[in-house]
Amino acid sequence: MATFSVAFLGCKVSHTDAHGMREALARDGHTERPDGADVAVVNSCCVTREAVRKSRAAAARAARSHGRVYVTGCGASLPGAFAGLPENVTVVRRRSEEAAAFVAGDVGPIACVGTDVRLERTRAFVKIQDGCSFSCSFCVIPLVRGATRSRRAGAVLAEIRRRVAQGHREVVLTGVNLGLFRDRESGCTLARLVREAGAVDGLDRLRLSSIEVNHVDEELVGALRETPTVGPHLHVPLQSGDDRVLRAMGRRYDVSAYLRRLEPLAGFNLTTDAIVGFPGEDESAFRRTLAAVEQAGITKVHVFPYSPRPGTVTAAEDSVPPAVKRERSARLRAASDAACRRRWREKVGREDVVLVDRPGRGYGADYSPWLVDGPVGELVRVRGAEVTQEGIRAA
Ligand code: SF4
Repeated sequence: MATFSVAFLGCKVSHTDAHGMREALARDGHTERPDGADVAVVNSCCVTREAVRKSRAAAARAARSHGRVYVTGCGASLPGAFAGLPENVTVVRRRSEEAAAFVAGDVGPIACVGTDVRLERTRAFVKIQDGCSFSCSFCVIPLVRGATRSRRAGAVLAEIRRRVAQGHREVVLTGVNLGLFRDRESGCTLARLVREAGAVDGLDRLRLSSIEVNHVDEELVGALRETPTVGPHLHVPLQSGDDRVLRAMGRRYDVSAYLRRLEPLAGFNLTTDAIVGFPGEDESAFRRTLAAVEQAGITKVHVFPYSPRPGTVTAAEDSVPPAVKRERSARLRAASDAACRRRWREKVGREDVVLVDRPGRGYGADYSPWLVDGPVGELVRVRGAEVTQEGIRAA
C-alpha cells in the first residue's frame, strides 16, 4: 500500500480531474495523507504563464518531499512546461479521461478493496464534457485538452445518483465548454440534462460550473428557471467588454449579444471571467469592460491579467505593459468587490438556505458566500445580519 496526496491548480475541471485521481488511488487501496505521503500527484494548469509557474513550483516542491511525483492535467500536455524537473517526477501527457487510470496503474494496486470512496463531504463535481472546439485566439486549452467530447447522459445521471447516495448535497456539472455537451445517441442536450439531473431523488442543489454566453438560449434558461434544485447563479465568461478586443480574441459574440442573452436571467447572481491587458486593449477599451460588467449586473469577476500562451494565435503578442495590467486588474477587482457587497447588502434581514461546506462558511442559493455556524455538509436556514469583507454574516 502507498500513501498519496493530490493537489490541483486551476479551474473546476482540474478540481474534478484531481478528485478522479484521488478516487482511483483510494479504490486501489492506497491511503490519502496530506503530509509525508509516498506519492504526490500535481494536477497542473497552463491557462496563464503564472499558472504554469505555480504548477512547476508545486511539482518541484513535491519532488523534494515525496518518493514519486506525477504531473497530470492541462500543463502536462504543454510541451516543455515541466522540462528539467528531478528524475522522480513523471509527466503524464495523456487525455484527462486516461490519466487517473495510468497513474493508479503505475503506482500499482494492492487489491481492489471495492470501497465506495467519498472524499468530499458536501459538493460533488461531476464532469459531463471535456475539451473545446472553439478557437479563442489566446487560449491554449483546445491544444492541451483536445476537441470536445461528451459523456453519455446515462453515465452522468448514474454518477449523480451515486454521489447523492454517498451523502453529497450539491452537484456541480463541470466541463471545459459545458454548452458543447451533447449525448448524440440519446439526443440529450445540456438543458435536458439539467432537468433530469436536477430531478435526481435526494439531490438538494445543482449548479453549472460555467457556460459560454453563446449557449445561454431559451431552452437552457427555461431549464435553469424551472428546475427547483437549480439555484439562481450562473458563471458566464465575458473576457472583454470591447467589441474590437472580443473580435481579436476570436470570441463569438459582441457586447450587445452578451447583454441581450443574459436579460432573461434577471435576479440571478451572475459571475464572470475577464482578461485584462489583452494586446491592443487601450484605456477606453478597458473602461468598456468595466461598463459591461456593471450593465450586465455581474458581481464576482475572476480577473486574469493576459499572458501569451505558446501555440496560440496571439503567442507573440503582449503589447500592454505589466504595470498597466496590474493597475487595470486592481480597478476591475475593486469594481467586482463593490458589486458583490451591493448584492450581499440586499440579504441583510432576509432568509436564505446555506450549504455549509467548511467550518463557519458556506454558500447560499445564489452562490453568495455566508459566514455561518452549522455542521459541515448540512443545509441551514439563515437570516442575514451584516456584510463583512468575506460575505454575509448570519444572525
Ligand atoms: S471557449 Fe475559448 S476560452 Fe474557453 S476553453 Fe474554448 S477556446 Fe478556451
